[in-house]
Amino acid sequence: MENTKETQVIDQDGTIVILGAGPAGLACAHKLLSNGLNRKVVVLDRANVPGGAGASFKWKGHTLDYGPHAFHTRGDEPESLIRSLFVDNPESLISGRKRVSVFLKKKFFKYPLQIKEALLKFNPLLSIKIILEFMMTFIIHQLVSIPIESFEDWGRKRFGSTLYKISFGDYTRKVWKTDPNLISRKFASEKIQGFSFMNLIKKLLKIGGQVTEPYYQSVIYHKNGSGTLYMRLAEKVRALGGVVELEADIRQLKLDGDKVKEVCYFKNGQMQTLETDFLVNTIQMPALVNLFGNQTPFIVRHHADKLKYVSLILVYLEFETDKIGDDSWFYLLDNEFVFNRITEQKNLSPTTMEEGKTVLSFELTCRGSEEYWQMSDQELYDLAIADCERIPKLANKLSKVTDFTVRRARNVYELYLKQFDSHAEIVLGYTKNIENIISIGRRGLFLQGDMHQSVEMGLSAGDLIQNMNKDASKCGDLKAEYLNKYVKYQNT
Ligand SMILES: Cc1cc2nc3c(=O)[nH]c(=O)nc-3n(C[C@H](O)[C@H](O)[C@H](O)COP(=O)(O)OP(=O)(O)OC[C@H]3O[C@@H](n4cnc5c(N)ncnc54)[C@H](O)[C@@H]3O)c2cc1C
Repeated sequence: MENTKETQVIDQDGTIVILGAGPAGLACAHKLLSNGLNRKVVVLDRANVPGGAGASFKWKGHTLDYGPHAFHTRGDEPESLIRSLFVDNPESLISGRKRVSVFLKKKFFKYPLQIKEALLKFNPLLSIKIILEFMMTFIIHQLVSIPIESFEDWGRKRFGSTLYKISFGDYTRKVWKTDPNLISRKFASEKIQGFSFMNLIKKLLKIGGQVTEPYYQSVIYHKNGSGTLYMRLAEKVRALGGVVELEADIRQLKLDGDKVKEVCYFKNGQMQTLETDFLVNTIQMPALVNLFGNQTPFIVRHHADKLKYVSLILVYLEFETDKIGDDSWFYLLDNEFVFNRITEQKNLSPTTMEEGKTVLSFELTCRGSEEYWQMSDQELYDLAIADCERIPKLANKLSKVTDFTVRRARNVYELYLKQFDSHAEIVLGYTKNIENIISIGRRGLFLQGDMHQSVEMGLSAGDLIQNMNKDASKCGDLKAEYLNKYVKYQNT
């Protein structure tokens, strides 16, 4: 049935503005344009390339990602979208399994850490201690009800103190620069799935137990780097009639009653204003709230301010050697290392590197403007070299280091402090009440998801907007249904 103008959320001549040209924003634009909604779609981003955290950059003859960025596959719509972008050259997408390890107590282990392998490779006394502790903890938790409030409580209950500390506790403290006792237990349910010590004991004793492999082992990766996926997606959005405006720094959102009316952004040295009928947000929740300034109640700004992030420093070392190892990346679990993870991107695609060379990226996280953030590039390089000296396969290759570069990215990891969910829900509640906004994606919903999840959320937001436009009276219910599907921390 033909829509009447009154029931339509977005006017025939209306514009849908999408904040952010990362995986979520571009997927949403693509869906809106290919659904035939027939509205103007404008995507704004302050970066000079599309792709958000999944973009790539050029350094000398190399194309580098901001930390490893392989696209996890599930044989569903997000994967089909990505594949459809390269129908002219399907071989440019490399499909396979990523190879990931863990460096722990001077040995390499498979990732995710297989406890069976760990128990067999650890010193036998340590392995016995781990098993006894696990059993004691299991019995105690059967007899007494001990509240599980933090990530640390969760880890100790599930694995016993020693195994928890070695395999998750120390690393969590290192990556999040936060005492795990202050981290919400909901972080564990997002990050550590399908992992059961009981299951493992059953397997060791050969009395059952099953291994469920996490889906994120299979990936696709473009031979020219992760960013190529989003360059192509942005091209496709433009070809479908959409606008992707880069170097557009969004500075203000103007409300008219409970609707957003205007988006103000800074481009080419001046402020520009764009009228909007519907707004899709994919930028960080607190940043979105700030864009409304004093139009937002103080209490919402207060809660938005409680949502915290961790920033990332990447040190890239160039080696004049064909290859260092076979891992796509490996984690450094021990406290003696300053860096968290080392990636050899060449193992995702050799063509991202200059011939005869390989570049390793070293990731280091910081909160706010702490010490590491203030360090010079040279000081960070020295730290990377010091970590290499403790890993034999890198120590042997130090004479081959020919150059380095450093990149810093603010607020890339959402930090799940205890109570984060109550703060996030208040901010979400506020955006829910603004009639013509939907906030989506990892950033827009304060999630810890991957690119697949952001693309999926973008695609289903496209459908959501189309459905909302069919019947304005259902907007509230449709938005709530959408958020319930993706924002699991609301319900756990
Ligand atoms: C080191 C690291 C490694 C990762 N590895 C993987 C991996 O291997 N596989 C995987 O699937 N995922 C990985 N991820 C996660 C992945 O990067 C994110 O899930 C994904 O990028 C989220 O997409 P998004 O569109 O929701 O947000 P983003 O990619 O963050 O996009 C948001 C966009 O908003 C723009 N923006 C923000 N504020 C403004 C403003 N005021 N004005 C204009 N524009 C603005 C930003 O420039 C950005 O382009 C990794 C993340 C990190 C940090």
